[in-house]
Amino acid sequence: MAYRTHSPQSLRALVKDMIVAAGWSADAAAETAEHLVLANLSGHDSHGVGMLPLYFQSLADGNLSPASQPQARLDAAPFLIIDAGVALGQPAARNAVEQAAAMAKTGGVAILNLLDAHHIGRIGHYAEAAAAQGLISLFWVNVAGRPPIVAPHGAKEARFGTNPHAIGIPVPGAEPIILDFATSRMAHGKARVALNKGVPVPPGYIIDGEGRPTTEPRHVFPHALAESEALGALLPFGDHKGAGLSLIAELLSAGLMGAARIDQKPAKSWIINSLFGILIDPARLEPDAELRKGRIESYLAFVRAAKPQDESQPVLTPGESERATRIARERDGIPLDDETWSQIRAAAAAHGIDAERY
Ligand code: NAD
Repeated sequence: MAYRTHSPQSLRALVKDMIVAAGWSADAAAETAEHLVLANLSGHDSHGVGMLPLYFQSLADGNLSPASQPQARLDAAPFLIIDAGVALGQPAARNAVEQAAAMAKTGGVAILNLLDAHHIGRIGHYAEAAAAQGLISLFWVNVAGRPPIVAPHGAKEARFGTNPHAIGIPVPGAEPIILDFATSRMAHGKARVALNKGVPVPPGYIIDGEGRPTTEPRHVFPHALAESEALGALLPFGDHKGAGLSLIAELLSAGLMGAARIDQKPAKSWIINSLFGILIDPARLEPDAELRKGRIESYLAFVRAAKPQDESQPVLTPGESERATRIARERDGIPLDDETWSQIRAAAAAHGIDAERY
């Protein structure tokens, strides 16, 4: 599979222009462009600009509209409940987290439930936004509007979405700890990247429609299967532990407040995320920022000093691999495979934009 390397600046400009041409405000477009390109820069191509053709398909199908606006259902500290009304996900989630951050800075804590946003992307983005304001954050997210794609532990068929979980801990004057992952062993978008590249996924990540282990990513994409083949499933990470966390994410984010859930037949073809978040001001726990910094950094140093199994692979703490990839990709550019780029070009052309000019 061939690749081309793109500069982050050109991709940001292209994505922003595409979203504006599709009818959104310049601010919403800039936020979404920033988010998607940062996902690529962080090494999470599954949640980068390659998602845009899917958003534009939702738009073309009439399932995503620039007219949708999030509405607060409850704004009474420490609770903030926002019905996103399937608005464009990245700006809806970023604004919700910024509002919750303001609440947590005033009252020490905020409990956020964002309901029914269109796909909100990389959840670590919001943990980074909270950490930039000096706040600890914990997020649980469900994935609805699609058929289930992750099997419960021991099951032959899917019952969960890839329900991501993220936690951010700020370190005063230093880079934050950002833990951010799907509760499946592999994000569905990473299987899409493998499918587009025509490469297998590692063993132990996917089962086929008969429950047999497979390395072929097509088994988790209905459009890539023959009519006679049943849809397979991604496996949860950590067996029963990841499966349990996925179940909790579904209930916390969407299940309590009646947002779209994975066990409801999707009304339309779209990806809906609901998010449950807790933001905490760590100064309410330990007011002395220097003490906090020292305690966190001494522990991180202890962990990083563990002897690596492989001398060429240093022991990392959460958030470090994304930061290293950002430095490399800012310098070398963002590689996009030809299939992903041609999908982006087609989505841009539908709105009168020639992606090759960026
Ligand atoms: P992943 O398996 O790459 O894990 C990433 C996490 O592990 C990060 O916190 C990273 O810093 C840490 N990490 C990576 N390598 C490490 C190492 N060697 N040592 C220690 N820590 C390490 O992530 P994933 O499960 O593939 O998820 C990818 C992205 O997909 C995430 O950003 C997630 O939020 C996003 N996602 C979004 C949705 C959605 O519907 N919006 C659904 C699923 C996943």
